[in-house]
Amino acid sequence: MPTLDRPTTPCAYCERESKPTREHLWPNGFIERVPSYNLRFSRRANKVFAGDLTIKDVCATCNNEVLGGLDAYACEMFDRYFRDFAVAGTEVLFEYDFDGLLRWLLKMSFNTARTLRPDTPLAMLRPYILGGAPFPSELLSLTLDIAPPVTPSGGQRELRPSWVRCGEAKLRNSVDWCIIRVVTIKSFNFFVLFTPDPEVAAPQEELLRVRHAIPGQPVWPDSRPVRIPVGQPSVARLHLHHYFAEGHLYDAARRR
Ligand SMILES: [Zn+2]
Repeated sequence: MPTLDRPTTPCAYCERESKPTREHLWPNGFIERVPSYNLRFSRRANKVFAGDLTIKDVCATCNNEVLGGLDAYACEMFDRYFRDFAVAGTEVLFEYDFDGLLRWLLKMSFNTARTLRPDTPLAMLRPYILGGAPFPSELLSLTLDIAPPVTPSGGQRELRPSWVRCGEAKLRNSVDWCIIRVVTIKSFNFFVLFTPDPEVAAPQEELLRVRHAIPGQPVWPDSRPVRIPVGQPSVARLHLHHYFAEGHLYDAARRR
């Protein structure tokens, strides 16, 4: 009797033909830790729905042997830093393993980006994400902005950043030589500046504009602990993740 084999596809990471596994976009550990995250927005579907966003194009080896380890590190960071809302007027002593953190942020970004654009340039970072290549310092930099809850003037209720989000930030006057990815985990907003082609020489003025538009403090490749002041409470900072497609990121940053 013939057996029916499940079809194989090239793994989105290692490109080997394999039977893909179905994975949640956000680590299971996060979904358990953020019970308020019960509605998901999908840019691809352009709608909000209940249920987990999943992807199904990664082989079991990549998922279990590499990417799952990055998720485990992110869950550790969650328990240490992301779980509680930041308190205005304080600072956070942020200790991190740079490669563990950035590789996870890039994995989240690559997984999200290719649901919209299968040929995303983030694919060139796969060797680094998988741990087989050193940090490509000429292509990437990382900043962190921490947003406290805010009580709008006249408002009775404190607004808290109780969400997680992964997307792309768009500047008002968009530039084509860089991509800004944002990963928001409650109070923590990570911004990854990615320059796919470091040979492209952007005008100095434009470089400065982009640098200035990206909120937050640098997070260093040598994993040096950083003291990050919690940002001023403001609705703009709280909703940084909403500025992805609206082009207000630049304005929001200028108002700081
Ligand atoms: Zn693979």
